[in-house]
Amino acid sequence: GKYTREDILRLVREEDIQFIRMQFTDIFGQMKNVAITASQIEKALDNQIMMDGSSIEGFVRIEESDQYLWPDLDTFAILPWRPQYGKVARLICDVHNPDGTPFVGDPRGVLKRALARAGEMGLTFNAGPELEFFLFQTDEDGRPTTKTSDEAGYFDLGPLDHGESTRREICLCLEEMGFEIEASHHEVAAGQHEIDFKYTEALQAADNIMTFKLAVKTLAQKNGLHATFMPKPVCGAAGSGMHVNMSLFRDGQNAFYDPADPRKLSLLAYQFIAGLLDHVQGFCAVTNPLVNSYKRLVPGYEAPCHLAWSTGNRSALIRIPTPRGAGTRVELRSPDPSCNPYLAFAVCLAAGLDGIQRRLTPPAENNENLYAIAADLEAQGVRRLPASLEAAIHALEADSVVTAALGEHVTNQYVTGKLREWEQYRAQVTQWELDQYLVTC
Ligand code: GLU
Ligand code: MG
Ligand code: MG
Repeated sequence: GKYTREDILRLVREEDIQFIRMQFTDIFGQMKNVAITASQIEKALDNQIMMDGSSIEGFVRIEESDQYLWPDLDTFAILPWRPQYGKVARLICDVHNPDGTPFVGDPRGVLKRALARAGEMGLTFNAGPELEFFLFQTDEDGRPTTKTSDEAGYFDLGPLDHGESTRREICLCLEEMGFEIEASHHEVAAGQHEIDFKYTEALQAADNIMTFKLAVKTLAQKNGLHATFMPKPVCGAAGSGMHVNMSLFRDGQNAFYDPADPRKLSLLAYQFIAGLLDHVQGFCAVTNPLVNSYKRLVPGYEAPCHLAWSTGNRSALIRIPTPRGAGTRVELRSPDPSCNPYLAFAVCLAAGLDGIQRRLTPPAENNENLYAIAADLEAQGVRRLPASLEAAIHALEADSVVTAALGEHVTNQYVTGKLREWEQYRAQVTQWELDQYLVTC
């Protein structure tokens, strides 16, 4: 690892750290934390920090609620946006039962299990996520709106781009926390931004996503703006995706690369793509977890609808970006940034590995603008992503590879929670319905 126990104790002392936040994530992707004072650091490093798991969504029942936070020392980082005297650091933790066994409902543990399976096949899994988000204005009371005075578009720059200075601050803060920021730019919609950081091994990538979202939200607020990772905040404008670039490495070499193939992709890459296509409907409820997620997956906004793959086409679900060699990767374009990244990476990996184990072959690649030929695709029987959260949940329940990757506990909690969310939504009377029916009926 990067840090030893002694390193952490020394850093806490030398850096004048007063508080340490012990962080973890609930199954619906919300970050949770408990702050301890520096005097408790040894206890924390002895895995003795306890919490009440029955108060965490999707964790345990009240009868068995004590759980322990086991910090991952390599995740130690100082929060740059907190005071720089009497600093605040954080440690990302695994959740364990009182007997020391890993808790089956801990999303980070779910991803670790999936990575261990890849490890048994001699493979490591890398992920490079691209998160998009909106920066909106707040009203007089500080409440978020969906207003933006920013009329900029894709790759535009100031003075059109009012979020520019906020984005700059986010990038600098993240770099201080050890992120390698590769690019940041204005996205297609007014008020929409993207910041890309370098791919890493998937566990660290998921940790990075949680840190990234916290940094973006915190720094937007400091700048008087509201940041949201809601997948489709504005009807009629582009939504926010979280494309995930994935690759498998074997013995330090990119196992998706094969110079002998016409597309320079290995058999393993094709099988991985086929596995993703085979299970994408089943894992959609994980990668696209909200009622609102399905409003993004409509034609015309660079978000996927049909199950197709391509080497260039941005209307396809899976795209193979141009780089080859060590940079060879598969870009899955369906996930959105409201997902739980630990669970999302676990199900994507499980799907890809299933494709490898069953030696699946993907269909022919499709390089057409799929939005323009949607009717033809339907006629050819090309499958679609689920149209609603409800359909996605039922597809998840029917996919044993996905439910096995999540495990029984997470599957049950997830399905129950998400069906409840769907039922609440289903009972709403929306403005659209009033506009459509109030007069005509
Ligand atoms: N905003 C688009 C989406 O919803 C993606 C745009 C892009 O290709 O970066 O996925
Ligand atoms: Mg983008
Ligand atoms: Mg992309």
